[in-house]
Amino acid sequence: MFCWLSRLCGELSTPTRRTTQLIWSSAARSMVLSSQRIPELSSFVARTNTCGELRSSHLGQEVTLCGWIQFRRQNIFLVLRDFHGLVQVVIPQDESAASVKKILCEAPMESVVQVSGTVISRPPGQKNPKMPTGEIEIKVKTAKLLNSCKKLPFEIKDFMKKTETLRLQYRYLDLRSVQMQYNLRLRSQMVMKMREYLCNLHGFVDVETPTLFKRTPGGAKEFVIPSREPGKFYSLPQSPQQFKQLLMVGGLDRYFQVARCYRDEGSRPDRQPEFTQIDIEMSFVDQTGVQSLIEGLLQYSWPSDKDPLVVPFPSMPFAEALASYGTDKPDTRFGMKIVDISDMFRNTEVGFLQDALSKPQGTVKAICIRKGAKYLKRKDIESIRKFAADHFNECSLMGKLRLECADLLEARGVVLRDPALFSFLWVVDFPLFLPKEENPQELESAHHPFTAPHPSDIHLLYTEPHKVRSQHYDLVLNGNEIGGGSIRIHNSELQHYVLDTVLKEDVKLLSHLLQALDYGAPPHGGIALGKQSILF
Ligand code: ASP
Repeated sequence: MFCWLSRLCGELSTPTRRTTQLIWSSAARSMVLSSQRIPELSSFVARTNTCGELRSSHLGQEVTLCGWIQFRRQNIFLVLRDFHGLVQVVIPQDESAASVKKILCEAPMESVVQVSGTVISRPPGQKNPKMPTGEIEIKVKTAKLLNSCKKLPFEIKDFMKKTETLRLQYRYLDLRSVQMQYNLRLRSQMVMKMREYLCNLHGFVDVETPTLFKRTPGGAKEFVIPSREPGKFYSLPQSPQQFKQLLMVGGLDRYFQVARCYRDEGSRPDRQPEFTQIDIEMSFVDQTGVQSLIEGLLQYSWPSDKDPLVVPFPSMPFAEALASYGTDKPDTRFGMKIVDISDMFRNTEVGFLQDALSKPQGTVKAICIRKGAKYLKRKDIESIRKFAADHFNECSLMGKLRLECADLLEARGVVLRDPALFSFLWVVDFPLFLPKEENPQELESAHHPFTAPHPSDIHLLYTEPHKVRSQHYDLVLNGNEIGGGSIRIHNSELQHYVLDTVLKEDVKLLSHLLQALDYGAPPHGGIALGKQSILF
């Protein structure tokens, strides 16, 4: 599943407080919204209708439904569920229908049944306005038990809290929940809209690139696949980066792919070893062009039951993001910016401050927690102090502290990060290189080694490479990096210099790409939405 979309879906779909019925209806609606035509939901299968579609307009119709038994009330009613919604079924009570009654009353919850009968109006006073099918019910004539359900490890109902481990162990049961159904359908709908936007409206070509590949220097660790030839291995690609650049050399001009990527980095909440990204590359484009494309793409594919996106998204230089938010992926839904107050303490006699300021690049920084005194308890202050001490030597300390304070305030009931807000932000003007974590004397690419230097800094590449800014841009949503890309180096000599002299990589591994750049490679750039984080 696209990590970034799954996360976005998580953020987009906050149905916990709505009733199950309303959510089922919105999951169903999202399917209809995805295309101009209402899809045929019962073609080719053993039902005439879906449970969720029946309304007063179907009164009198003979229908056959298939679904799972969600509830049963006093052996008189049962509620049947399918992917589209819920419908009430009246269990016949007369002697002649004893066998039907037996099936419907004895089948355990979550058993799969097929029922046939007539759509009738609910008696006066028994209509349920909260249920999209609440005006009608099914008077059953025949019923078939298609498969019985054993005792479940947890109830499917969404309000039942279950642990992540249990959910993963029984993922197929978890998928029956409203939330999961909604997420997967929303993802599918968004991807369809994205394809529509890219291919039909803007002439992009969907190209599948290989997944058995060779090692790419730099970047994440790659998965290695043994081959049948002793000592020879394949690598799974971290992304289709090289392929998409080669497609530009091949004159494809506008490429995209819903691409599977693999990074052997272990799992974290926002990272998975395999994930999907919307991968894009264009020839003859600049940074503004890529950014406008992505804004248009997201606006076009944005779920129509959410507030429309306002574009262009704001933009922030990397240096400002770091100074004011302590991170290159700021959550701009709330303030509490980091302020440098070193100047106020230049002549201080407070020992530890003097000490800090006397160090090279030593600073004193503060975060103002408005009404902190009112909301934060003594133990909160203590935990902030401990957090600061535990993370003291990380430079991203202030950014983490800002988020920690936000968590504490929210735990005390202050709403800082509106869950309904989607705060997109472009972070730009990244450095081209960063000191390597394990050896700060050496440099590594901040994005990847194919990223072009900022035109105004290109002269510094040969003298002070660490000062060069790049044409790399990241898209951030509510504090998560959901995409990133760059304008690429299309000059073979420059690419060779970066790989060989600056990054000290083995250029032989990329000789094919260097050679391709020599054969009339057009200027090009691109982006991938997904990265290792959110939406997909
Ligand atoms: N291949 C890059 C990545 O996956 C994205 C890009 O530069 O287009 O991070």
